[in-house]
Amino acid sequence: MSTHDAIVIGGGLVGGAIAYGLARRGLSVALLDEGDSAFRAARGNFGLVWVQSKGAGMPQYQRWSRLSSELWGNFAAALKEATGVDPAHERKGGVNILLSETEFENRRQLMERIHLEQGETGFEYEMLDRAELKRRIPAVGPEAVGASYTRYDGAANPLFLLRGLHAGLLKHGGTYAPGSRVTAVFARPNDFRVEAGGRTFSAPKLVLAAGLGNKELAPLVGLDAPVRPVRGHIVVTERVAPVIPLTQNFRQMPEGGLLLGDSQEEAGYDDVVAPRPLRDITSRAVRAFPFLRDVNVVRTWAALRVMSPDGFPIYDQSREFPGAFVASCHSGVTLAAAHGERYAQHVMDGALPAELAPFTGARFAAARAA
Ligand SMILES: Cc1cc2nc3c(=O)[nH]c(=O)nc-3n(C[C@H](O)[C@H](O)[C@H](O)COP(=O)(O)OP(=O)(O)OC[C@H]3O[C@@H](n4cnc5c(N)ncnc54)[C@H](O)[C@@H]3O)c2cc1C
Repeated sequence: MSTHDAIVIGGGLVGGAIAYGLARRGLSVALLDEGDSAFRAARGNFGLVWVQSKGAGMPQYQRWSRLSSELWGNFAAALKEATGVDPAHERKGGVNILLSETEFENRRQLMERIHLEQGETGFEYEMLDRAELKRRIPAVGPEAVGASYTRYDGAANPLFLLRGLHAGLLKHGGTYAPGSRVTAVFARPNDFRVEAGGRTFSAPKLVLAAGLGNKELAPLVGLDAPVRPVRGHIVVTERVAPVIPLTQNFRQMPEGGLLLGDSQEEAGYDDVVAPRPLRDITSRAVRAFPFLRDVNVVRTWAALRVMSPDGFPIYDQSREFPGAFVASCHSGVTLAAAHGERYAQHVMDGALPAELAPFTGARFAAARAA
């Protein structure tokens, strides 16, 4: 039996950040991960640390995302110092380019709604008209009517982030167990035994951060995480000279290649690349930036987001089995700093604060009963 202070199930960005945060605080942590046969959103994402457009209808989510973006700088610096792995975080603000007057007006309404819901916590945004957008990004084409902008948005390199989180865990004395699909969980209050990869792990704290796997695991400890897959595609182009500052759908990497993406498709557990979303992504990219017509695509992939029924994260502690926590979200890069710096601390303290209460998985049972 391998005995620890905490077991974290799921070695993606959510589990990695929480496990690293717990280990950094001195806990002995075992991070269990199923491995390559699992769906792994952490290895297929766009890498934005994105705040604008988050949390309409759930102001706590906007604040949590903004908090994470504020924590990210120090979080990245500490990770780099501990491990030598630089997650390449930047926070220079970001724009969302809008290609029709209807898109512009819908976006303006969304941003204004978030601004009003945030009240005195102060969510500030700008709507850029075409002239201002063209001034900031000369490469935009004639169809771009404007954009939304906030200073909170940024980006990171998600694979370096993942590698850094795992390295940070090990550096702080944690155990990483790949190839360890959890096959059984035995729960008592503050006392958990987990079977995975032919070994047994025990700890008084358990965190479920298994992405889509949380759906099956949560009921084993009296929690509810009815997440579903939402597929997204990403298109990578050959390298071009620097032309695009950070935008939500078109991201230029430091080496010059562009990531194009942000599609959302209900395709069940099918993560195979499909032609239709690729066409939609590339045609929108060419409308925004006509020079892309002559730029080659070098790579494409599809991956599955971890989506809750209302799109907001799930954070909860089991009432039946205190010590068991769940964390699910579809923005694990954005929220990595909040997970590592705050959620880990709450797990360590043994209680989630009032500001995370709206994220309880119990909201879905209430919605089902209504
Ligand atoms: C196309 C796309 C673009 C995205 N872009 C962004 C972006 O720009 N910014 C952003 O913030 N987020 C983005 N995301 C989301 C981000 O990738 C995820 O939120 C992030 O990966 C967090 O995922 P996770 O750790 O919850 O799940 P995963 O990364 O899927 O990790 C879950 C892990 O749990 C393990 N597991 C599952 N079941 C078990 C089990 N029974 N036992 C043991 N281990 C198990 C799996 O092996 C897996 O490694 C994007 C996602 C996609 C698909």
